[in-house]
Amino acid sequence: MTTANQYSLAEPVTALSGVGPRLLEKLERIGVSKIQDLLFHLPYRYIDRTHLSPIGSLRSGHYAYIQGEIELTQVRFGKRRSLLCRISDGTSSIVLRFFYFSKSQEKGLQRGLSLRCYGQVRRGQGSLEMIHPEYRVLNDQFENELDEQLTAVYPSTEGLQQPRLRKLTEQALLALKNDKDSLIELLPENILIKNKLPTLSDALTYVHRPPPDADIQSLLEGKHPAQQRLAFEELLAHQLSLLELRKEFRKEQSPVFTKNSKLVSNFLKSLPFELTNAQHQAYEIIASDLNKKEAMLRLVQGDVGSGKTVVAAMAALQAIESGYQVAIMAPTELLSEQHYNNFLSWFEAYKIDVVFLTGKLKKSLRTEIETRLENESPVVVIGTHALFQNSVSFAKLGLIIIDEQHRFGVHQRLALLEKGQKQSVYPHQLIMTATPIPRTLTMTAYADLDHTIINELPPGRKTISTSVISNERRDDVIDRIKHICAEGRQVYWVCTLIEESETLQCETAIDTAETLKEKLNAVNVGLIHGRMKSNEKEEVMQNFKKGKIDLLVATTVIEVGVDVPNASLMIIDNAERFGLSQLHQLRGRIGRGDIKSDCLLMYQFPLGELAKQRLEIMRTSSDGFNIAEKDLELRGPGEVLGTRQAGIPEMRVADLMRDARLLPQIQSAAIFLLENNSDKVESLIHRWLGKSVDYSNV
Ligand code: ADP
Ligand code: MG
Repeated sequence: MTTANQYSLAEPVTALSGVGPRLLEKLERIGVSKIQDLLFHLPYRYIDRTHLSPIGSLRSGHYAYIQGEIELTQVRFGKRRSLLCRISDGTSSIVLRFFYFSKSQEKGLQRGLSLRCYGQVRRGQGSLEMIHPEYRVLNDQFENELDEQLTAVYPSTEGLQQPRLRKLTEQALLALKNDKDSLIELLPENILIKNKLPTLSDALTYVHRPPPDADIQSLLEGKHPAQQRLAFEELLAHQLSLLELRKEFRKEQSPVFTKNSKLVSNFLKSLPFELTNAQHQAYEIIASDLNKKEAMLRLVQGDVGSGKTVVAAMAALQAIESGYQVAIMAPTELLSEQHYNNFLSWFEAYKIDVVFLTGKLKKSLRTEIETRLENESPVVVIGTHALFQNSVSFAKLGLIIIDEQHRFGVHQRLALLEKGQKQSVYPHQLIMTATPIPRTLTMTAYADLDHTIINELPPGRKTISTSVISNERRDDVIDRIKHICAEGRQVYWVCTLIEESETLQCETAIDTAETLKEKLNAVNVGLIHGRMKSNEKEEVMQNFKKGKIDLLVATTVIEVGVDVPNASLMIIDNAERFGLSQLHQLRGRIGRGDIKSDCLLMYQFPLGELAKQRLEIMRTSSDGFNIAEKDLELRGPGEVLGTRQAGIPEMRVADLMRDARLLPQIQSAAIFLLENNSDKVESLIHRWLGKSVDYSNV
C-alpha cells in the first residue's frame, strides 16, 4: 500500500485510500478527478472553533463558537412549531431555535447540562438567537479542547460529507507539502513580485488550512492576500482565454466589402439630417473593418438616441453592395419590427430586399423567407432570435448586426458565427448596445470585442428633467397629464415591473389603463403590453406616433427603440423596482423632439435607503455610463446585467466587484504572459476553466 507522502498530485483521486467508484462518482460531480483538483476545490467559508466567545459579546450576523448551561428547553407552538433552548454563560444568554427536531433531541437538552454550539447569531424575538446551530452536549463542563485551526467548509454534493472532504484535502495538502514542485507555479516571478502575491502552493495551503491567528473576517470576505492571489490567477486565466479566443477568431476569413460604397453615399444624401461627428467616426472604423479579410467583431456603445441605427444601416448597405446577405437581430418583437419598418423605408429607393422573420410568422410565409435566404441573393433580414433557429440557413451571410446585445454572452455570439459560417468564411459581426457597459465588465466579459463609443447626441436634443415623487401624489401627476395632453403633447405611463411574471405585468398595465381612462376622460388612453399580438402592438404604436393616442400605458416592451418625438412626459410607476440602466433606457423614449421633457419616477412610499440612493442617481445624472457604473457599485454585476446572460463567467474564487481593482494589473499581466511566457497560457486557462473552454461546441 502507498503511504500518503508518496502520492503525486497528478494521480487520479482513486489512488487515495478509501476512494472507490462510488465516492469517485460524487467527487466528479464537484469537479474532482485528480488529487490536484482537491487543492483547487476551495472552501467557501470557515468555522472558527479555536476559541469560545462570551455570549455577552455576540453581535447579530457573526458566526460564533459558544458554551453555556441550559436554563430552559421548551416547545413553542405558534405559526411554526419550534424547539427553543436557552443557554447562559454568565455574561448573557441566547436562544437556540430548532424548527426540525425529534423527541429524543428535546429530551437530550435538559436543564443544567452544558452545551457547545457553533452557528450564526441573529436577532430574535427579545433576545439573540441561533437557528439550527451545530451543538454537542459536554460530558465535563470544564472540558477545554479547542480546534487548533479554522475549519474549512467546502462546496459539496449530496452524500459527500464535510469530514470526508477535509480528510481528502488533507492528503492532497500533504502531497503538496512533500513535493512543492509537484504543483506548477504558472505565474512568472516578476509578476508575483510586482503584484506582491504569495506563491500558489503557499496560497492554497493557507486557504485550506488557515492558522488560528488568521484574520477570519478578511477570509470570510475573500479579501485575504492568499485568496487574492488565487483570484488574480483565476481572473488572469479568464482574461487570457478571451484574448486567445479573439486571436483565433481573427484568423478566420471573412468577405471583403468595398469601402467607398455608392449606396452609402446616396443613403446619406437622402437623410433629413447630417451625421454627428461621432457617427461618422464610428462608421469610418466599421467601414475599414469590413474592408479587411479578418472578421470584424466590434461593439458599438452609444447612449440612447445617439443614432446607432443609421450607422448599422450604412454597414448593411456596404455588405449588400458587395453582394452579401445581412442579418439584423433585435431582442424584442417590437424593436425588430421597428427596425424592419425603418430599413424598409430607407432601402426602398435602392430596390433592396428587406424581410422580417419572427417566431410568430405563418408557416408558409416563413418557409418562403427561408428559401430566399438559402438562395445567394443579397437581402437584409431582420428579426428576433428566430433568425438563428435550426431551420434557417444562410447562403451568403456577410454581416450580422446585433442590437442591444447585452443579453447575449460570449457563447451565444460564437453560436451565431458558426451559424453564418460557410466553407470557413465567417460573417463580420457588429454589436450595438445602448446599455453602457461599465469598464469593469468590458474588460472581462467583453475582452474579445473591439470597442467603439458614440459619445455624442444629435444636436437640438433637449435635456430631460427627472423628479422623484411618492405615489401618494398620484392625483397631482394625473392632473399634470391632463395639462400636457391639453397642450397637444403626449405621455408615456410605464407600469410596475413584476419580475418573473410577464402576465402579471400585463394585467397591471390593463388595470392602470382602465383607471386612467376613468380619471382622464378628455384624454385618449392607449395600451401596449407583451401579451398583445404583434400587429396589435404595431397598430397601437402607429396610433401613438400619429397622435391618435395621447397617453400610452405600457409595460417595458417600450424599453428600447421606440421613437415618438412629440412625447414629452414619462411616468414610471414603482420606479424603485427597475434597474438603473433600464430606467435610463425607458427615459430615453422622451426628449427626442425639440420640447423640454420630464420624467417622473414614482415610488411606493416609504422608500428604503438603497432605493433612495439609486433614484437620486437617476435624478441627478443623465449620463448612461455614469449611471451604469453607480448601479454596478450598488448592486453588483450579476444583478445589473444578469450573470448568465451577460456572459460573465462563473468564478471559483474571484468576484468581479470585490476584485475589480485587480483588473488593470491582470490586464497587463495577461499581455506580458502572451508576449514572454506563452507556454504558460494554455496551462493557466486549463487550470481554471478546464473543460468549459471548449468554444467549438457552443
Ligand atoms: P439609438 O442609438 O438609441 O438606437 P436611433 O438610431 O434610434 O438611436 O436614433 C434616434 C433618433 O435620432 C432616430 O429618430 C434617428 O432617425 C435620429 N437620428 C439619428 N442620427 C441623427 C442625426 N445625426 N441627427 C439628427 N437625428 C438623428
Ligand atoms: Mg437603437
